[in-house]
Amino acid sequence: MTSTTDETTPPRHDHIFRNALIYDGSNDGPLPGEVAIAGERIVAIADQGTIPAGPATREHDLKGKALAPGFIDSHTHDDRIVLDSPDMLPKISQGVTTVVAGNCGISLAPVTFDGPPPAPLNLLGGKEAYQFPTFADYARAIAETTPGVNVAALVGHSSLRLATMSDIGGKAAASEIAAMLDRVDEAMENGAAGFSTGLFYPTNAGADADEVSQVAARFSAHGGVYATHMRDEMDHVLDSIAESVDTAARAGIQLVISHHKCAGVSNWGRTRETLPVIAKAAAGQPIGIDAYPYAAGSTNLRADLVTDTYRIMISWSEPHPEMTGRDLADIAAEWSVDLDEAARRLDPAGAIYFQMDEDDVRRVLAFPLTMIGSDGLPHDKHPHPRLWGTFPRVIGHYARELGLFPIETAIHKMTGLTAKTFNLKDRGRIAEGCFADLVIFDPATVIDRATYEDPLQFSVGIEKVFVNGRLSWEAGATTVHRNGRLVGGRAG
Ligand SMILES: [Zn+2]
Repeated sequence: MTSTTDETTPPRHDHIFRNALIYDGSNDGPLPGEVAIAGERIVAIADQGTIPAGPATREHDLKGKALAPGFIDSHTHDDRIVLDSPDMLPKISQGVTTVVAGNCGISLAPVTFDGPPPAPLNLLGGKEAYQFPTFADYARAIAETTPGVNVAALVGHSSLRLATMSDIGGKAAASEIAAMLDRVDEAMENGAAGFSTGLFYPTNAGADADEVSQVAARFSAHGGVYATHMRDEMDHVLDSIAESVDTAARAGIQLVISHHKCAGVSNWGRTRETLPVIAKAAAGQPIGIDAYPYAAGSTNLRADLVTDTYRIMISWSEPHPEMTGRDLADIAAEWSVDLDEAARRLDPAGAIYFQMDEDDVRRVLAFPLTMIGSDGLPHDKHPHPRLWGTFPRVIGHYARELGLFPIETAIHKMTGLTAKTFNLKDRGRIAEGCFADLVIFDPATVIDRATYEDPLQFSVGIEKVFVNGRLSWEAGATTVHRNGRLVGGRAG
């Protein structure tokens, strides 16, 4: 990628942000000052009233409001929505300027299907969504679409397995692993950012630690990272952490433990055990975590997650779309059947599981290695509110209202820490030479409005969002001036 400025052009300032409270993404406290951008990059950071304006400069008086690096959503399933609804309003309206897609072993490329894709790949859509036999095809689609936000794309292990294996239930044969590794090379050479697994899911569960570490090692050879939705986040969560740490160590790769939680009522409180184990492992190898700021998770409606010990809400159902947004228990009562039978009748479906303890959520969010990631499911009819509310909720609710950590720490967890963990060059910081992905927000009022009952709600307090130097979105707007691109890995 080339900047629109070069040495032969005299310095110019396209935008100057004056009277800003600058959160630079580093976890340091904010400082008053001003920032200038030219073309796609940040070119000056200085004391108040010192940056000269040119004839074409657009000045923004922030009146003491916050200027931060654009937020990076470290965990998304936005592979398809960046192409189908490229304005990306649910994300850009939160101040997000980059999404990490392809998580949980599920990526749109490189795989195609003749019939309906199996769960969980159906979370991204039907077979018509999977039209990218190579990663280069997907990269080209991103470039032609120009989404509203940047995209760092992981390649999912389930997608690789479904593209190369005859029997998805077991471990891959040597020849099948070799076929996966060819696809890894192709993907990384064409701008993928790394690897993801979803060992919890049937399409990925057959892979043992050997298979995972062999594939991960190939991503590592290309400079990729490795994010995992672990095999077990319930009773055997400690075994799964040990497996994840071990496979990443064998592959020599940066590990990200996805949406860390201790799910199920009998495991509430166990982040007191898991976080020290992760901290200890992280002293010896690079490890990060992502988390969303809610005590409910969401995925397919699965028989093994149905229980009467926590609330379950239906987020979509193919045979019974009229039940979307209702509780499974109410549906079962209405049908005079038990929960299992109601779930069977609703399938294929999605659900929101109120399976976590709020104290665990807070402990994980406050953990120093934790990045913020929404894990939002953009194709759900009645999505978990994390899709529209995650970032303002972390700043407004957890930092400002509850004082779980300072606002600069909230910002660091969604900018500098994430860019470093995912190797996103020149992003996630306000520093001279970095890309001008920026958000202006009001730290006194910023808050989420999306709820479980009413999830499609804009947040409050996010005022302007710049992507690669362009003013892309302003509060209240329903149009987006799109300027995103593929980032991470070889894409830069
Ligand atoms: Zn997941």
